[in-house]
Amino acid sequence: MNATFKFPIMFILFVVSGALASTEHEEKPPNILFIMSDDHAWQAISAYGSNRNVTPNIDRIADEGLVFDRYFVENSICAPSRAAILTGTFSHLHGIPTNAEEFDGTQPTFPAIAREAGYQTALVGKWHLKTEPVGFDYYERLVGQGPYYRPNMVRNGEKVVHDGYTTEVITDLAVDWLEEERDPEKPFVLMVQHKAPHRNWMPGGAHIDDLVDSDLPEPDTLFDDYAGRGTASTMQEMTIRDHLSKADLKLEMPEWMMRMTEEERATWDAAYRPRNEAFEAMDLEGDDLIRWKYQRYAKDYLRCIASVDDSVGVLLDAIDELGLAEDTVVIYTSDQGWYLGEHGWYDKRWMYEESFRTPMMVRWPGVIEPGRRTELLTQNIDLAPTFLEIVGAQSPDRMQGESLVPILTASSDEEVEDIGWRDALYYRYYESNGPHTVPKHQGVRTRRWKLIDFHEIGEVEMYDLENDPDEMRSIADDPEYASVRNRLESLLVELREEYDVPDDD
Ligand code: CA
Repeated sequence: MNATFKFPIMFILFVVSGALASTEHEEKPPNILFIMSDDHAWQAISAYGSNRNVTPNIDRIADEGLVFDRYFVENSICAPSRAAILTGTFSHLHGIPTNAEEFDGTQPTFPAIAREAGYQTALVGKWHLKTEPVGFDYYERLVGQGPYYRPNMVRNGEKVVHDGYTTEVITDLAVDWLEEERDPEKPFVLMVQHKAPHRNWMPGGAHIDDLVDSDLPEPDTLFDDYAGRGTASTMQEMTIRDHLSKADLKLEMPEWMMRMTEEERATWDAAYRPRNEAFEAMDLEGDDLIRWKYQRYAKDYLRCIASVDDSVGVLLDAIDELGLAEDTVVIYTSDQGWYLGEHGWYDKRWMYEESFRTPMMVRWPGVIEPGRRTELLTQNIDLAPTFLEIVGAQSPDRMQGESLVPILTASSDEEVEDIGWRDALYYRYYESNGPHTVPKHQGVRTRRWKLIDFHEIGEVEMYDLENDPDEMRSIADDPEYASVRNRLESLLVELREEYDVPDDD
């Protein structure tokens, strides 16, 4: 059959199955399986075109669902992003502008509202909001950031310790909950939140020896000298060249990080001792040393992601085997993006694309047209209103995001644009003088343009993302783009008004 005939038939099938799903939707709302990793770069997912790794299980969600190509965070660090996802609000409203504050769990969150609407709610893994989770029938959270091995956790208020590799422990706890604790009479929200691939990138399980015999491609901007921008990029402390510690590079491991059984310890030593001896023998310096550090860091990071990808496969298989897959919306995302050597960096924080843009994909059998992608501008504040629409509950007026359901159910971006969608996003980063010393900034991004106001240091940068996707040359002071700058500055004022952003920090 040729493509001209195939398309209309597939389209009709999709419309019919979509209509059936919406009938079922009224009878029993779907389950939500929300899988989030920590610091997962979109550059390290094959569904986003990675040239450095493959993620077959995450790609399965992409192939069977919808991939968001323009999904962003409101504040690119861990705790603020987690609070934004739970509450559907920007940092100035959810009260976690930096990693230092304590989350007020009494404010409206999507899991708590879903629970009131009759859902069974569960959370396993990283929480990182300082106060105990609220709105869950069951939770088992890591203490703080959590270690890579033998994690100490808090299960519904009680301390527990689990042997094993944390990514696998979290996966097993989630599967146990699905098999043993889930109430088959109720729909569920299950949030599975990995520590990996957060710093300091300790691999485990079957992946500790991945990539040993190959060299990864280097990003084009690994040796960026920041000459095309203002001074903000030169103020940071997140370079591969100068700021990775010996523990980050696995050259010296403090005992408190080595929470391992004797067998795991022996496996670790067998893997890293010869690699470190080979490194010492090479006596590298200058650019060669930077290249070696990049390889060491990026490979460990990708090994951690390989375990996260395995986890996604185990969870997808589990809902298949339990007969839940057809009634479950599956989401894969990260709490923000990440620099995998781009601009010479690791870490996040900036409004530059690598850390601002974040992976997000959704599978919803019978509703989402498989394999579709969207370039509409979406943000982590949109998730709570989306999940509440899926569960059939009302979003509180306080929530500032937009439900993504019109995007999930559409066949094209044009269809959504016809009914109206945002054309600009607001971003703000609040943590000055914190780790990595990135100056405070805010900004606006449209499909083509980005303006970043580094208000703390009185500098503005602007980029043409169409012609300069790596953001190597700021055009903020280029007279040719003065009218674009004026328009973006007006947009920034409008967005701040729309979202009630206070003048001070
Ligand atoms: Ca993070």
